Amino acid sequence: MRLAALLPLAGVPLFGWGCEGHQAIALIARAHLSGAASQAVDRLLGENPIDPSLNRFCKDRPADPMADAATWADDIKNIEKTGEWHYIDIPLAIARETPDVSLWCAPVGPLLPGKDRTGCIVDAISYELAVLKDPWRNASDRARALRYIIHFVGDLHQPLHAEDNADRGGNCTSLAFFSEDRPSNLHAIWDFKLIEHELALNRQSQPRFAAALDERFSQHWAEWGQPKIDVVAWTWESHKIARDTAYAALNPPIPLERVDSQTDCSTERDRVAAEHIAIGSAYDDAAEPVIEEQLAKAGYRLAALLNQIFPQ
Ligand SMILES: [Zn+2]
Repeated sequence: MRLAALLPLAGVPLFGWGCEGHQAIALIARAHLSGAASQAVDRLLGENPIDPSLNRFCKDRPADPMADAATWADDIKNIEKTGEWHYIDIPLAIARETPDVSLWCAPVGPLLPGKDRTGCIVDAISYELAVLKDPWRNASDRARALRYIIHFVGDLHQPLHAEDNADRGGNCTSLAFFSEDRPSNLHAIWDFKLIEHELALNRQSQPRFAAALDERFSQHWAEWGQPKIDVVAWTWESHKIARDTAYAALNPPIPLERVDSQTDCSTERDRVAAEHIAIGSAYDDAAEPVIEEQLAKAGYRLAALLNQIFPQ
């Protein structure tokens, strides 16, 4: 049902993980929060609720306040002009992982009339972490910062939010998705289509999906649940997955564009469409395990981050 509702939006660069992905990450994180962190998160979110008049895209609102908060940043992005905060456009052809990503990331800027706020996901996470940790900021600002962080840690683990191949992070591509009549794009396929496909295939509810992922990856908590927060390392990890799996597993693969090539969305879309690339079970087999690992990893890292911010 949600899939049908989303179809008219295919090709529009709106999301990072869909409702299911972001909510699963929050539910996995919740399961690993300390008692103190869990209480602090609920208090901050509960005492500073989301404006009830805000139009929420995810209509099946989860009972867990953290899972509900996880998709708020997408609902607010056109109002707060923070669309650029959800990704970083590191060219896919860049293989050398530099510790400084400022070449591809403008610093977070103020809200100016008629303009989008500058920034990218790496700076936006640092910026909102500083707000959340600042005891002198009012609780409403800190609650907003918490909602942004829950969302952006998720987005950063969606590999197509950490790359650009002269196609706006895979948005300007045209591919066939299983038997669907309308073409889709690689970004949407990674945001939500493969996850929706998996849930439909297994007739699995979203909370069960999250719990199953948590169980399957539980042995990784010791590694991914480390208090070490390295946003740049997480960025490069996603970028590499985009290159090695999201693009490379296509048949035929979309080649790497020159680092300085400009995006002309319709030209790129036509060029990819001419390749008649079809996403089917072979691609799904390569991508789905990677997506599931990224969801679990994001959940564990988010929990570790919040446990550090709200100590016992
Ligand atoms: Zn997003």
